Amino acid sequence: MRSIATINQKGGVGKTTTTVNLSAALARMGQRVCIIDLDPQAHASLHLGVTPSDSELSTYGVLTADVTLAQARVPVAENLWVVPAHLDLAAAELELAGEVGREIILRDKLAEETEEFDFLILDCPPSLGVLTLNALTAAKEVFLPLQPHFLALHGLSKLLRTLELVAKRLNPKLRLTGIVYCMYESGTRLAAEVSHDVQDFFDSLNASDSVWAGARSFDAKIRRNIRLAEAPSFGQSIFDYAPGSHGAEDYQALAIEVMGSEAAGMRDASVVTGAVARPASTLID
Ligand code: ADP
Ligand code: MG
Repeated sequence: MRSIATINQKGGVGKTTTTVNLSAALARMGQRVCIIDLDPQAHASLHLGVTPSDSELSTYGVLTADVTLAQARVPVAENLWVVPAHLDLAAAELELAGEVGREIILRDKLAEETEEFDFLILDCPPSLGVLTLNALTAAKEVFLPLQPHFLALHGLSKLLRTLELVAKRLNPKLRLTGIVYCMYESGTRLAAEVSHDVQDFFDSLNASDSVWAGARSFDAKIRRNIRLAEAPSFGQSIFDYAPGSHGAEDYQALAIEVMGSEAAGMRDASVVTGAVARPASTLID
């Protein structure tokens, strides 16, 4: 099973859109996928049409009470499940403040899991608090959505330092697999410059044995597409809402690339390219 945390302490960069639509694309390819919504805003849950009425049966109950992931999990489509978030999760940070081992609660709950999944995708809030730490402790991989924006690199060093600390103290298996460019305006100078700067930044890190060793940007760039912004209000993934859109095409291409990219395999770009057997557009019905 691959477990992936979608993180960036900035809001509005495309974490939730990527979590939901990448998961939906993988599920349509026959992978069994479970999303765990760790953001009190519950955007991923709402995007999939799920609103837990009982706060216990959500990630809040999982982190603060005796609720198992299986009890809180809801099926949303073929091969796709979500453990939804509830607004009460906002209080979890405070409620867990005095708790010993509060960063590893989710990892312990996952250890009790009996259901088999191919992918576990964890949608994180825009902060590096206890909820994100639970995701980083439970996951083996990190996907970092970035908006090619002149401030894209701002805050990246802090984020990488957090990953490094978590890897050192709590989860030695943690690796940054890759950067997903979201709201990409292809053909603009800014997008090209920012992706170039990000690549330079990673090349400049002496990466050999660190948490970001082998990290790279995915070739599939998610273009700015209004359909992606509209889909959440309908409680549908892009594949149900607008299957012929650029958004569906881009997330399908990302899923194909992710399937071909075991964390270690990402180090060899040819492995990734080799996985694309057909042009993404032919896979969309
Ligand atoms: P985050 O989870 O990082 O806060 P979201 O995924 O919620 O970010 O995205 C922020 C906003 O931008 C949302 O309204 C979302 O619908 C919109 N959005 C995300 N990706 C795209 C895209 N590629 N094109 C257009 N709008 C997008
Ligand atoms: Mg979000």
